[in-house]
Amino acid sequence: MTILDEIEPIRRQRVYDLVHAAGVDVSHWDVSKGNSSSAASNPKYCFDWSFVGESAVVLNLWHDGMEEREGIVRYALNPRQTAEKATGRRLLRARQMEAAIQTAMRARLPIRAIVNAGNRKNASNRTTSVKRRLLDPVAWRVESYDDETGHCTLVRSQGRPTFIDQFTAREIGTESPDKKTVTTEVTARCPQVRQQVLTRANGYCEYCREPGFTTGDGKIFLETHHVIPLAESGPDTPHNVVALCPNHHREAHHGAMRDAIRQQLLAHLQTFA
Ligand SMILES: [Zn+2]
Ligand SMILES: [Zn+2]
Repeated sequence: MTILDEIEPIRRQRVYDLVHAAGVDVSHWDVSKGNSSSAASNPKYCFDWSFVGESAVVLNLWHDGMEEREGIVRYALNPRQTAEKATGRRLLRARQMEAAIQTAMRARLPIRAIVNAGNRKNASNRTTSVKRRLLDPVAWRVESYDDETGHCTLVRSQGRPTFIDQFTAREIGTESPDKKTVTTEVTARCPQVRQQVLTRANGYCEYCREPGFTTGDGKIFLETHHVIPLAESGPDTPHNVVALCPNHHREAHHGAMRDAIRQQLLAHLQTFA
């Protein structure tokens, strides 16, 4: 049985119940002022494609749009492109969908997927009708997002995501690196601190908020960095360590903007103080 078989929706469930089950507040769906329609079928919300809560972002994804390869399930979408071809409510929903994805990245929120099955709007179907739904018990995350084009790939977590940094990658690497360098660098840094920072970052660069890349074995890679360098007596604690994408890590060390980057990262760390 594949993962896609496991999350094939077989029941006709309501969006309202699934959004609620994902932990997103649905109290405002209640229609007041004597309107008789019930909250669950409030058309203002129940046809939306995305919902943003304080602890999760919920996205409607089509089961037949999911792709499973080597045990990893992905979903490619481009709500910006959809918006360009849409009008009215459809346009609005596509825009909301892209904003919800951006929020998930910025606020490092897990994505909960409502898996849809039914008829998608296409050349032969004039309207969309969802026949069956299921709330995926496993969270999803943004694997890549192209700010220029709006193209986005979501990936379904395999249990709890594993976050690794440059030191972990080297420890488990097959090449035999220069032993002396590795020993000095690894011993100077507390593995618990690095892991705590990687967990806090939840797979997103703490400078640009872009997702770290996924390694060949499905782990999420970011580099840990001491904002005040150890050489300047910066402490080896989570209050001085951030997780950065490889590009911004290099820039934090060598870029013309490195002082500004340091200031911004210090301000970021202040929010956890
Ligand atoms: Zn970055
Ligand atoms: Zn560094």
